[in-house]
Amino acid sequence: TMQAFQIVEPHKAELREVPVPEPGPGQVLVKVGGAGACHSDLHLMDAPPDRLPALPFTLGHENAGWVEKLGPGATGFAPGDPVLVYGPWGCGTCPSCRVGMENYCENNGGIGGGGLDGSDGGMAPYLLVPSTRFLIPLGTLDPRDAAPLADAALTSYHAVKRSLHLLGAGSTAVVIGVGGLGQMAIQILRAVSSATTVVAVDTAADKLATARRMGADEALVSGDAAVTRIKDMTRGQGAQLVLDMVGVDPTLRMAAQVARVRGDVTIVGLGGGALPVNFASPPHECSVASPYWGAIGELMDVVALAQAGKIEMLVEHFPLERAGEAYQLLREGKIQGRAVITP
Ligand code: NAD
Ligand code: ZN
Repeated sequence: TMQAFQIVEPHKAELREVPVPEPGPGQVLVKVGGAGACHSDLHLMDAPPDRLPALPFTLGHENAGWVEKLGPGATGFAPGDPVLVYGPWGCGTCPSCRVGMENYCENNGGIGGGGLDGSDGGMAPYLLVPSTRFLIPLGTLDPRDAAPLADAALTSYHAVKRSLHLLGAGSTAVVIGVGGLGQMAIQILRAVSSATTVVAVDTAADKLATARRMGADEALVSGDAAVTRIKDMTRGQGAQLVLDMVGVDPTLRMAAQVARVRGDVTIVGLGGGALPVNFASPPHECSVASPYWGAIGELMDVVALAQAGKIEMLVEHFPLERAGEAYQLLREGKIQGRAVITP
């Protein structure tokens, strides 16, 4: 048996003794190096019972480690290989899955895989992955530091990439909420569009300082003064892209205020707020989208960015016994980048 950090009932997660899984046909067992603590897990713990999958299950949907054991017929990897685990586990055969967008699988309800959908995630010494198609080789990257690439970076990369056509010379991108995801978004914007002016917005001064270090041109405290400043910076026009990594009423309102005509408002945060839409707001022909996670090919791009040293997560490691504490610190806004559990 092994210890696993499981959600056992709404608002309650704890260490429990569980069997070590045995990989079946086509499956692979991964020895977990790191499992990131994502803010989505806090939303999950806070969710009403009718919105939760069957409990208990092991948390951790942002995982990296080493191949431990291949099930019968599983090929392409060898024990000891360092790997990043693609998290949204689709059916593999529907049109979305066939193009690598298993985050939008037409057959699994679009929730995701281990650590989210009721199957076990990576906050345990071993993680059972249904197929080697979910493994991305990490090369020289350390799984303990690379784990956040699987969600914080992939989600941010996908959200930025879909708006790349707007990010030409003289363009502005605003990132609201610069925690785990937002810090990645800033670096990714820097890496894929050096011509873009990147503005970070947060309520916490320490997060803003980190955002500046990560390449943000401006870092502003959330509020009306930030709206005025962004308008001033853009000759009154607003930003081509606004990424809302929080998703509460005030940030969504701000997103609509600072976006420009024909811009993109992209809602990534699951804060549960609502964006009022009418003829005048958001600005004319603004597109609003709520992307979920990203594609397998994009995760390979993200690994390439990390290998090239163009993106790097601020990681704070916690042993499995301190997983509960890591989530508490995340809730209190005391994690600078990402808390990564190292079972
Ligand atoms: P985090 O806790 O690391 O960061 C959140 C940041 O938002 C913090 O820096 C906090 O200070 C800031 N913030 C809070 N309220 C704010 C406000 N009113 N104005 C400005 N900033 C504010 O969280 P994270 O792990 O980066 O996740 C961010 C959000 O993205 C969460 O809601 C999470 O569930 C969601 N998420 C979505 C996807 C997706 O696929 N769409 C994937 C992963 C995470
Ligand atoms: Zn599918």
